[in-house]
Amino acid sequence: MRFDIISVLPGLLESPFAHSILQRAQKKGISEIVVHNLRDYATNKQKSVDDYPYGGGSGMVMTIPPFAACIEKLKSERDYDDIIFMSPDGETLNQRIANQLSIKKNIIILCGHYKGIDQRIRDIYVTREISIGDYVLSGGELPAAVLVDAVVRLIPGVLSDETSALSDSFQDDLLDAPVYTRPADWNGHKVPDILLGGNTPEIEKWRHEQALERTKTRRPDLLDRGEI
Ligand code: SAH
Repeated sequence: MRFDIISVLPGLLESPFAHSILQRAQKKGISEIVVHNLRDYATNKQKSVDDYPYGGGSGMVMTIPPFAACIEKLKSERDYDDIIFMSPDGETLNQRIANQLSIKKNIIILCGHYKGIDQRIRDIYVTREISIGDYVLSGGELPAAVLVDAVVRLIPGVLSDETSALSDSFQDDLLDAPVYTRPADWNGHKVPDILLGGNTPEIEKWRHEQALERTKTRRPDLLDRGEI
């Protein structure tokens, strides 16, 4: 799976993809993440990518030409399944959306800045708009990194123990069960006996009950709405 991320601050996206699972996914050739510097596509002398808003008001608006040039170039090289704009007014990212995207092949992600991007970029090119939550960040780079992380870890072969993504919170409308590791007794705080007995069916049953209990108390809405 290939991601092309278009950003005016590509440096912000270096570290998130250079470690751990995302780095491994790229090394294994399972995912390719290419960051494009929007400024390279600016056509004017000042290499500017933003301008004053029509109608006045505060904040600069990102202009059409650099985005159009970068998107057109990418589209001439391969077909894209989706062109996603990270935006606080988009649909809120959840595990269902991450699952949907994890089976796609090529995706472009646009990162906004300042007051946002010219609405016509959204009208002409964008096929999907995704928010990472009801709060406003300074730019779309951190949201893009969140989205790519959530999606890439679901691609088969990325996690070394493939089943571990399946038991994560939200995958089956349930939050994850509590987890423990050694020591079995920490100053009197003990690991539940059931986990030490080695009876796998009983342990699975216990984990399911715990997950259900946790979901009921913390996120009853997941049980009601049938998230996946
Ligand atoms: N004026 C805009 C916010 C602009 S913030 C509004 O009120 O909707 C600048 C950029 O940061 C946005 O264009 C978007 O790309 C990104 N951004 C900010 N918050 C975000 C969020 N919660 N989810 C996804 N992207 C976000």
